Amino acid sequence: MGVRVVKFGGSSLADAKQFIKVKDIIKAEKSRRYVVPSAPGKRFSDDIKVTDMLYECHDLASNNKDISKVFNKIIERYNGIISDLGIDLSLDADYTEIKEKLVNHASRDFAASRGEYLNGKILASYLGYEFVDPAEMIVFDDKGVFLLDETVQIMRRRLKNIENAVIPGFYGAMQNGKVKTFSRGGSDVTGSIVARSVNADIYENWTDVSGFLIADPRIVDNPKVIKVITYKELRELSYMGATVLHEDAIFPVRTVGIPINIKNTNDPDARGTMIVSDDTAEEMSKYIITGIAGKKGFASINIEKAMMNSELGFGRKVLEVLEGYGISFEHMPSGIDTMSIVFNSALIKGKESEVLSQIRKRVNPDHIEVERNIAVLAVVGRGMRKTRGIAARIFAALSHARVNVKMIDQGSSELNVIVGVGEQDFEEATRKIYEMFVLSGEE
Ligand code: ASP
Repeated sequence: MGVRVVKFGGSSLADAKQFIKVKDIIKAEKSRRYVVPSAPGKRFSDDIKVTDMLYECHDLASNNKDISKVFNKIIERYNGIISDLGIDLSLDADYTEIKEKLVNHASRDFAASRGEYLNGKILASYLGYEFVDPAEMIVFDDKGVFLLDETVQIMRRRLKNIENAVIPGFYGAMQNGKVKTFSRGGSDVTGSIVARSVNADIYENWTDVSGFLIADPRIVDNPKVIKVITYKELRELSYMGATVLHEDAIFPVRTVGIPINIKNTNDPDARGTMIVSDDTAEEMSKYIITGIAGKKGFASINIEKAMMNSELGFGRKVLEVLEGYGISFEHMPSGIDTMSIVFNSALIKGKESEVLSQIRKRVNPDHIEVERNIAVLAVVGRGMRKTRGIAARIFAALSHARVNVKMIDQGSSELNVIVGVGEQDFEEATRKIYEMFVLSGEE
């Protein structure tokens, strides 16, 4: 029997009804031995996450204001879950201790971490699993940098003889003993670390969607789920704005090739998305592309100069100016006598004329301009490397949509094609590319 590590997000543990689903899922498979819970999330769209209430308590306490009202709401949430589940557990001693620490200015990270800590205690009691505090196992140095190797060693030793455990997500401790959290959504990272430490066969990440979608559902109607995606593809898509999994959740399992399966607590039979290493991704998407993602808010500096191609150091000088102003670029398409540099437009705010005049001074261009309101769209897929005609189909889709393409870039990995379009065309471009590859692939 293999070992699975299962992480449940906040919406999967938002109330007793969800806890019941979670228990059913865990008990359905003996191999689901290690469980990583988040703090209770939202039960409905304008509900407040426990983590946010804890941050609020911390902020009130640091202004010497009374935290009782907010803290009582937190107690109510947990006690409601305990009584609805009908378990014999009292967290009163914990509440008293935590409140006292918060009032006495415990750190912001400590405050936030109590959401997972308390939820972990409830889940452990409900499942009959041992509760193991990650503050004893997940190590950060005193600057707050997470230490993977030390953590894996300690955790491996600690969990070796424990058949079943609940390990709260989101936090660990620094070497000086102070609690430290990952960034928001960080229980995903904890799950990944536990999976690595116990050499899991698979890391199941349970959430409220049936995996990654091929395109943003706010733009495309009912997009299909991505069945298999590689770590690399995921990185491309996440960078361009797809969010389901914390970015840092990949690196602990990536080097040892443990697959991550994104699953839906509310639809446990759905396959979800499998995230695998590049060489084990045998199953190809029938649509050839894996996903489409994009972002608005880019600008580009377009430069023209006759004989630019033979002027040694031209590009370097331009980039040095940008570096000096803290502008990091995303893409740099070029022609024989032209060069464009695409970057996040917020980076040039308030410094535009200075930047342009510095570039003029350094390289004396014939023409230079800044273009704004650009959206960048990435079409990602490991299947593109082996298939001809992908670019043709992307641009046919864009031409049907009457979208003017401002920039084209293909990474050397041939894993993606990136196109720049006007922000006003972004949604339509996404829809048309989706139609071209996914809907027409259905026939
Ligand atoms: N509870 C934390 C948050 O809301 C961590 C997590 O849920 O992963 O960010």
